[in-house]
Amino acid sequence: MKFTLPKWYDLHVHFRQGAPMENYIQAHLDMGCCGVLAMPNTKPPVTHVSGKNTEQYWTIENYLSDLKQAGGEAFDDIIVPLYLTGETSAKMITEGAKDGILRACKYYPPHGTTNSEHGADLNIYMENGVFSAMEEAGLILNIHGEEHGLSGETYFGESSNAEDYFYKNHMPKLVKKFPSLKIVCEHITTKTAADFVNTASDDVVATITPQHLLYTVADLLQGLKYHLYCLPLLKFEKDRNALLEAATDKNNTKFFAGTDSAPHTTKATECGCAAGCYTGGIAPQLYADAFNLNEDNLETFKNFLCLNGPQFYGLDVSKETFTLEKKPSTPVIAGNAIPLHTGLGHDELNWTLNL
Ligand SMILES: [Zn+2]
Repeated sequence: MKFTLPKWYDLHVHFRQGAPMENYIQAHLDMGCCGVLAMPNTKPPVTHVSGKNTEQYWTIENYLSDLKQAGGEAFDDIIVPLYLTGETSAKMITEGAKDGILRACKYYPPHGTTNSEHGADLNIYMENGVFSAMEEAGLILNIHGEEHGLSGETYFGESSNAEDYFYKNHMPKLVKKFPSLKIVCEHITTKTAADFVNTASDDVVATITPQHLLYTVADLLQGLKYHLYCLPLLKFEKDRNALLEAATDKNNTKFFAGTDSAPHTTKATECGCAAGCYTGGIAPQLYADAFNLNEDNLETFKNFLCLNGPQFYGLDVSKETFTLEKKPSTPVIAGNAIPLHTGLGHDELNWTLNL
């Protein structure tokens, strides 16, 4: 079984910063990626649009040029969303959009995940003109949909969790107030979020990672496989099923690939664990596993991996192709971040990817 697919866009990836970026970008190119949405939670974060970097913040203009220099020139397109903070103003949005440098903005709940301590409450942007300006300019809002500051059962329990809470309490208000705002619900993990996206307007879509399609929290806990520790956390079987159903639906136009691939050279620390799964070099192979890719669902797989995302972002579908063959492979991964399958103790992948 061998399938030829158009090169695809990873519409949620962390390349971080500095010298290791070259390896991470190369790993993405090696897995048939023709473009990316590169996350702005660098150190310091990308909270300004243009001009020079400072010690407190980076600019999209500068980070884009860093990414290109590190090999990203080979991508058809790179989008760097602006990291929304309490200092983001409607004026920054309007001017940035006019220049064409600003194409998307990223909402992080304060202290939601790695390097996200600069985020502010969602309500602030609903009131201070930022979301209005984005809606007006047609910019895309990338949302990390988790409520911050919850504890115990409400943070992670049988009937509620941080994502569930966010999609029940914040998202309905957001889409009601800004009905034409283009929203990508990033790395959704729950049935609640999948249901929300399914019933929302066509302006509301979602990315899903390979790990959330393949695993549940039980996989993380049994043997404490900390390479599966990512945020939002893996959830339960009913959630995984809802994500799979959404992604593999024949009529799916709203759910697409965004790996949230996050390289950590030190995953387990002395007092905890860095959040994020590294899937550079291996993501299409894992998505193919999740879909149980075959002749019958090839079109649906193609929609999810290669077509729905660029369609929503207004990007051109690549004319170049790559192949996936149902044959075990041992991918060579550049750099020293440990890819997910290795972290889980697997030497081989079930699929072979060739460019
Ligand atoms: Zn992320």
